[in-house]
Amino acid sequence: MGEWECANCGHIHDGQEAPRVCPDCGAPKERFAFYPLDDQAPDEWDDEVYDLLLSLEEADNEQTGDPPDG
Ligand SMILES: [Zn+2]
Repeated sequence: MGEWECANCGHIHDGQEAPRVCPDCGAPKERFAFYPLDDQAPDEWDDEVYDLLLSLEEADNEQTGDPPDG
């Protein structure tokens, strides 16, 4: 188990998946960061979480950088 925090307004969403959009500010689920709360979570789940967080950071960097060459 864990919770999702909206990077835009700080809204907390409990559950295994982020909401489609933030109910408070309307930010897309890509803006949510996952925080695992269960210390006994299996390692394979942790790896998925880290991959997700890394992909979120990369997406953030792309949004603030120049448009990709295309
Ligand atoms: Zn929000």
